[in-house]
Amino acid sequence: MDYKKAIQKIVAERKARITDARLLYLDLLRTSRELYETEKEIRAIKMDEILGKPADKNKLETLIRRRDAILHSKGVTDEMLDPPYRCGKCHDTGLVDGKPCSCVINKCIDDGMDVDATFENSDLSLFPQDERERISSVYETVKAFCSKFPYTNKLNLLFMGRCGTGKTFLASCIANELSAKGCSVIMLSSFAFVNRMLKYHTTFDNEKLGYLEPLLDCDLLIIDDLGSENIIKNVTVEYLFHVINERMTAKKHTVFTTNLDSDHIRDRYGERTYSRLFGSRLSYGVALSNTDLRK
Ligand SMILES: [Zn+2]
Repeated sequence: MDYKKAIQKIVAERKARITDARLLYLDLLRTSRELYETEKEIRAIKMDEILGKPADKNKLETLIRRRDAILHSKGVTDEMLDPPYRCGKCHDTGLVDGKPCSCVINKCIDDGMDVDATFENSDLSLFPQDERERISSVYETVKAFCSKFPYTNKLNLLFMGRCGTGKTFLASCIANELSAKGCSVIMLSSFAFVNRMLKYHTTFDNEKLGYLEPLLDCDLLIIDDLGSENIIKNVTVEYLFHVINERMTAKKHTVFTTNLDSDHIRDRYGERTYSRLFGSRLSYGVALSNTDLRK
């Protein structure tokens, strides 16, 4: 989905919620004589106010209290009649200062984030005894990264280690923590990443930018399981470098998880990408346990 469609969707969803709320209220007026009469009186007093006639303020307050009590007795909450904004930043308009809001960028790509992954849910006892202290300090570093975000020393985090060492879990913790702070976060598998880039590479209509733009614009991009994707000529290596390079130039943060070690990364993606990921003081690479925690 591109920005335009995402914004249209957000605005349409807002309208639909308001319409639902109005229909609900009309239905309540139809089915409750008491509510109907109260509402009629409230409107009459409000009309007097508008027309500059003397309005009975005390009576209005009493009527509003009565209306609230009737609604309350029917289990109707304020939120049902006056739906709150889903996004406090753009008030569901999709735009902040003329630019796409983080909620728009998030909507462009909805790829399976583990919503249960939180630092509170992490269980370091899954790690072997002799690894726990080191892993615990990794977690502290990552938590500090989240709390300082976006003003961090590091732009790139690399979590390395075999399958089942909690790399994806840790990346998901970051995703959830920063999403909750209102940042735009895109997490996708390297397989999905390459598929998007292939579409970008081979599409020439107005959908084209929608495949790449959110990956460059989001506050945090997470590419999960780097190395599990296909190497497609002119796509995988080239676009991976392009995205990393553009994001670093724009001082944007990227997290990678991978089973590969640094030598394999150099072999697979070439010197340029390797040096961005390992040769930069802006990158923090760490091996999680060598033991598969799922065994
Ligand atoms: Zn928004």
